Amino acid sequence: MSAPGAGLGARASADVLVVGAGLAGLHTATLLARRGHDVVLAERRTRLTTGVRTTGIFVRKTLDDFPLPPDRLGPPIRRVVLYPPNLRRPVELVSARDEFRVGDMGPLYAGAADAAAVAGVRVALGTRYAGRLGGGTFHLAGRDGSTVLRARFVVGADGARSRVARDLGLDRNRHLLVGAEEVFALPGGGGGPPTFHCVLDPSLAPGYLAWVVDDGRHAHVGVAGYADRFPDGLRGAVKRFRASAPGLSGVRRAEAVERRGGPIPVGGVLRRISCAEGLLVGDAAGAVSPLTAGGLDPCLRLSEHAAAVLDTALRTGDRHAPAAYDGAALRAAFRGRLTLRRGLAQLRSPAMATAAFPLLRTPLGRAAAGRVLFGDRSFPEAPAPGRPRPGRSLRGGRTPA
Ligand SMILES: Cc1cc2nc3c(=O)[nH]c(=O)nc-3n(C[C@H](O)[C@H](O)[C@H](O)COP(=O)(O)OP(=O)(O)OC[C@H]3O[C@@H](n4cnc5c(N)ncnc54)[C@H](O)[C@@H]3O)c2cc1C
Repeated sequence: MSAPGAGLGARASADVLVVGAGLAGLHTATLLARRGHDVVLAERRTRLTTGVRTTGIFVRKTLDDFPLPPDRLGPPIRRVVLYPPNLRRPVELVSARDEFRVGDMGPLYAGAADAAAVAGVRVALGTRYAGRLGGGTFHLAGRDGSTVLRARFVVGADGARSRVARDLGLDRNRHLLVGAEEVFALPGGGGGPPTFHCVLDPSLAPGYLAWVVDDGRHAHVGVAGYADRFPDGLRGAVKRFRASAPGLSGVRRAEAVERRGGPIPVGGVLRRISCAEGLLVGDAAGAVSPLTAGGLDPCLRLSEHAAAVLDTALRTGDRHAPAAYDGAALRAAFRGRLTLRRGLAQLRSPAMATAAFPLLRTPLGRAAAGRVLFGDRSFPEAPAPGRPRPGRSLRGGRTPA
């Protein structure tokens, strides 16, 4: 992988500047480089194995459609247990198929960055995007100094609070949850079959869920919710949940604990996510399921759309081609999930969650929960009109069409 700063020098140029080496930025940059474009990927972190901000649960549709490296995925999970606030009489759902696998995210990001470098991306770690200077130039601040980079397009893959979105005058995420979790290894295996435990308790996770994911190798214990509704703050909620979390009794846990956390945009895909100078992908574009808060599948799918649109723009020289990248059109597919999000946001007290729970125990309730958790829906795909879809491999694998 390129050294921090990637030897960009005081002045540099590229076809595309991608800001942020999360899943969205890595995938977009690699797809563009494989299509022969000159790409700089600027990431402020100096190492991609630290500062991870996700649990890393990949859903079946993603595992089916994208060749993620199997050695970087934990054992399959088929069992989900839903708990009311008092943790009594939980609802157990078991799928006939492998539904989830948890990524070993540090190595997975690092492997994807290596694949990007092999594809020709200039990966500049320890390099912060510091602003747009105008006239197609951008300011990058690295540990070795500053670079003024001229690029035909900039891609904002810089997360939920995107600076690129602000600089380009595009839409920005306003509806956010915050989440935090602790991750530790399970040296003696987990507490039974690999299981995703979800606790519906607004005092722990206001507007969302508290979770324990135990795939037999690692446990993730976390909470997420609306920042201003945690009675004792996000950290306080994690601490309380750790003391009562289901599924971990008698489980031997490693001493070392990794702490993760970050904002989660749940307002649906933003409407204006492109302009003549560039576009947004991943969390920066609000591409997260408003209901499940899953953003990894959307990252991969929207990045493919973004790469196809930019490829067309670069090959044809049509600076207005990014207009085909339209958040408003994608947003329509999220209407139902946005309505359910509003419903979840209304569960404001443990008493309300407890009262709602008997519904989940009915056959209808179980079927609805099964559809949300094990359904076949994914982020809507929107290839550029008349264009073949680019290849999908995160490392090596299929080449672009
Ligand atoms: C606690 C938590 C748990 C989650 N669990 C799941 C899950 O299990 N499954 C799921 O599907 N989704 C999950 N999500 C959501 C999912 O993780 C995100 O939607 C997804 O990772 C977003 O990827 P991204 O590439 O858009 O952004 P990010 O992964 O946030 O990457 C943005 C990158 O941009 C960099 N950056 C930011 N600003 C700059 C700058 N100025 N200059 C240079 N670099 C910059 C950052 O350092 C970062 O590396 C979770 C989210 C949270 C917070």
